[in-house]
Amino acid sequence: MSAETTAAPRPRRTRQNTLLKRLINRRRAVQAGLGIATWFVVTRYGLSLWWVFFAAIASGLVLGKYFCRWACPMGAIMEIMLGAGGEENKQKSLYSYFKIGCPISWAGGLLNKLSVLRVKVDESKCTHCSVCDKACYVAQLADGRSLHEGGKVNASTHYSCSRCLGCVKACPSGALSVGPSWPFGTVIPSQNLLRASEPEEADDSMALQALAADAPVAAVDAGRALAQVRVERPRRNRRKRR
Ligand code: SF4
Ligand code: SF4
Repeated sequence: MSAETTAAPRPRRTRQNTLLKRLINRRRAVQAGLGIATWFVVTRYGLSLWWVFFAAIASGLVLGKYFCRWACPMGAIMEIMLGAGGEENKQKSLYSYFKIGCPISWAGGLLNKLSVLRVKVDESKCTHCSVCDKACYVAQLADGRSLHEGGKVNASTHYSCSRCLGCVKACPSGALSVGPSWPFGTVIPSQNLLRASEPEEADDSMALQALAADAPVAAVDAGRALAQVRVERPRRNRRKRR
């Protein structure tokens, strides 16, 4: 076989990006599947919602606030409903996702700053076309946030980023990916982290104010929901107890 006809092996990074984009293209199917599975396990086996909460938080330490848009059955329904209000309304509503009174959403949003995996930009591939920021509701609605601009904070560490990965999908040059990041690696150059400290602080104070405002109502809602979910246990368990 001649050298011209021998196919060059594809770089590992490109293969990873292709797989990631395939997964992103199927996000709604994944969300529907995981959402139905979560609902089935909770209702069929009488699982307490606390288990769902703790599982979402434990996995959120790695993935951040992914649960809302990858695994939550209510999130899937809400996303369809939000889309009916037009693109601008949808962006604003998704930005406020953490305020819906769901403790998983709150905790996941705060975990975005700590999670191991975040959206990363490969500076050598980035052409600074801004397509990613146009696809991201956080970059559009939060001052001081961007996925590629120097001097701004990475949008995926914002509490409203729900790991939709629309930015990764939109990037035409494959510069965005998901990977380990600070403190386990780097997301944006450290000088940008320092220069962008003001908007970060502003975001934190907004998040805490919103949490304080919504907490009483949401706590009551969550308490009621947990109290009402008295799911019938399988009959054989009840017989054993007698
Ligand atoms: S879409 Fe990709 S290439 Fe364009 S600015 Fe964003 S990261 Fe850079
Ligand atoms: S995953 Fe990307 S597009 Fe989606 S909210 Fe986060 S930073 Fe924005």
